[in-house]
Amino acid sequence: MFRIVAATKNDHKLEELKKMIGDIDNCEIVSLNEYPNYPDVEETGTTFEENAALKALAACQYCDVPAFADDSGLCVEALDGAPGVYSARYAPTDPERIAKLLEALKGETNRKAKFVCAISIASMGEVIETFIGEVHGVIIDEPRGNNGFGYDPIFVPEGYDKTFAELSDEEKNKISHRAKAMEAAMEFIDEEMSCLDDF
Ligand code: IMP
Repeated sequence: MFRIVAATKNDHKLEELKKMIGDIDNCEIVSLNEYPNYPDVEETGTTFEENAALKALAACQYCDVPAFADDSGLCVEALDGAPGVYSARYAPTDPERIAKLLEALKGETNRKAKFVCAISIASMGEVIETFIGEVHGVIIDEPRGNNGFGYDPIFVPEGYDKTFAELSDEEKNKISHRAKAMEAAMEFIDEEMSCLDDF
């Protein structure tokens, strides 16, 4: 049996991850909630990869077991990739973030955007792999839908006419940036790491 730490304190994220990791033999996944004194790690990177890597490494070093971490956000083409790694910090609340983005895109005809998710895996004090998942789409003029979180109500993925917030969790999880990165990361953990046997 081996243990891997998901570098998150978010229970919702952990439950989602547990469903995905359920198929991996010999693997127990725990979150940072098992480590109550875990210090906050500042996201100082300028790319999703850098932030995912620094979070995975910090968790691996603190917990002394393999760890993985994700970093994600929305990149808008007409805004040169903004809000990007600053997606969570773009404004104080989700509705304010959406309003600010729609204001920045007022009158703009290029509505192309993508969600990006990087997942890094660290083991024995170093980052060993990083996986990227992306989903392309467009930003619409007005929010629609009540599911999901963040920028979901203004993002329509390519090939769909509904926003992420109008899709069910199941539908979103089939095509999302996070699901794609997670699938690659889980495959790696299954193939390369399940030989680890640390307890
Ligand atoms: P993180 O938790 O540091 O990865 O921050 C990601 C931020 O990007 C979130 O707070 C959201 O604002 C945005 N974001 C990332 N993924 C999604 C998504 O699937 N839907 C909507 N917003 C997202």
